[in-house]
Amino acid sequence: MARSVEVAAKRRLTRQIHVGKVLVGGDAPISVQSMTTTKTADVNGTLAQIYALAGAGADIVRCTCNDQEAAEGLARIVPRSPVPIVADIHFHVEMALAALEAGVNGLRLNPGNLRKPEEIKLVAREAKDRGVPIRIGVNAGSLDKELYDRFKGATPEALVASAKRELAYFQEVDFEDVKISVKASSVPLMIEAYRLASETFDYPLHLGVTEAGPPPHGLIKATAGIATLLAEGIGDTIRYSLTADPVEEAKAGRQLLEALGLRERKGLDLIACPSCGRAEIDVIKVAREVQEALEDKNIPLQVAVMGCVVNGPGEAREADLGIAAGKHKGHLFIKGKIVRVVKEEDMVQEVLKEAESIVKEGIEARLAAADANAEKEAEEDRKALFSEKGEDVNHSEQIIEKIRRKLDNQD
Ligand code: SF4
Repeated sequence: MARSVEVAAKRRLTRQIHVGKVLVGGDAPISVQSMTTTKTADVNGTLAQIYALAGAGADIVRCTCNDQEAAEGLARIVPRSPVPIVADIHFHVEMALAALEAGVNGLRLNPGNLRKPEEIKLVAREAKDRGVPIRIGVNAGSLDKELYDRFKGATPEALVASAKRELAYFQEVDFEDVKISVKASSVPLMIEAYRLASETFDYPLHLGVTEAGPPPHGLIKATAGIATLLAEGIGDTIRYSLTADPVEEAKAGRQLLEALGLRERKGLDLIACPSCGRAEIDVIKVAREVQEALEDKNIPLQVAVMGCVVNGPGEAREADLGIAAGKHKGHLFIKGKIVRVVKEEDMVQEVLKEAESIVKEGIEARLAAADANAEKEAEEDRKALFSEKGEDVNHSEQIIEKIRRKLDNQD
C-alpha cells in the first residue's frame, strides 16, 4: 500500500485533455491503449477486436486510417465502439481529414512522415473545430531526416525537437489539445527521451517502447521502459507494442498499472510461491489451473497458490484468498486464516468457489463462515506431514549442533 501511494504521489502534473469520454493527463487515472490489427475496412472484425481489447482493460483503442475504405470503416466503427477511437495517420493528410469526418475521438500524427507545415496546420484547425485531440507521435525509427542529421542520430534531444517543431505549428493556429509520445525500440533511449520531454512540455505523455517484439522478451522491454518512467511520475497513458494478439497488450498495460498501484484492481492478482523441495504439489501446474479458472471472471482478488503448509499460509497472509498444499490435502485460507481443508484433487475448484463467494458476500462474511474444525484439521495435517518428512528438511539444527561441537573442542 505504502509503495503504491509513493508511486502515485510523485506523478508530474500535466494538462488534461479529453479523448472522447476518457480524460488523459492531470490527475486522471493513467489509461491503457492498444491498437487493432484487423483491416479497419473490416468493420465487424475490427469491432470484435475493439470489444475484446476493452474487455481486457484498454481504455482507448487506435485503428489505422490508411485509405478511403479504412476511413469509411471508421465512420461505422466509432458510433458502435465501447471505447474512444483514435485514428493512426502516416503520410496522408487527407486521411487525417477523412478520419475527423468519420467522427474519431483522436488523431495520431507522425511528424516524421507528415512534414508540410500547411498540411499540419490544416489538420490542427479542423481538429480544433471538432474538439478532437491530436497525439504528436514521434518515433525514433521514422524521425525526420533533417533532425536525424542535425542531431547526428535519433537522440533524446532529436526526438523532443521533432515534437517541439510540430507543437509550434499547432500553436500557430492556437491548437493546444495535444499529447506527445517520443517512442524508441531502445529502452534506454526511450527512457531518456521521455525524461527530457517531461522537463520540456506540460502536455500529457503517451508512453511506449515501440516494436518491443514478441513476448516474453517484448513484455520485459516494454515493462522496463514504461514502469521506470511511471515510477518517476512520468506518463499519462501507456501502450505495450507487442508482436502478439493485441489483447495481450491491453492485459499487460492494465496489469502493470494495477501492480504499481496506479489503477484499482479489476482482475485477478495471482501470486504463487516459486516452489522448492518442500512442495507437496506441482505448484506451476496448480497455479496455471487457478489462473485459467479465475482469469476471465473479472475477480478483483489477490489469490495465492503455495506449495506447502509450512510457510504457505504465513507468507501469503496478506492475500485475500489462498491455498497451501498439505498431506494430500489443500488448506484454504482467507487473509491467512484457514477456513477449510479440502481434498487435493478439489483444490482448484474450491479456490474458484470461494473466490466467487468472497466477491458476492465479502471477506468478513466468508471469514465468519469458516469451517469451525478447519484450524484443528489443518494442524493435524501439518503434524502428519512433519512426522513423515521431518520439520527441518534443511537439517539446520544438526548443522548448528556440529558447529558448536567443533568450536567447543577448540577451547
Ligand atoms: S511455500 Fe513451501 S513449497 Fe513454496 S517455496 Fe515456500 S517452502 Fe517451498
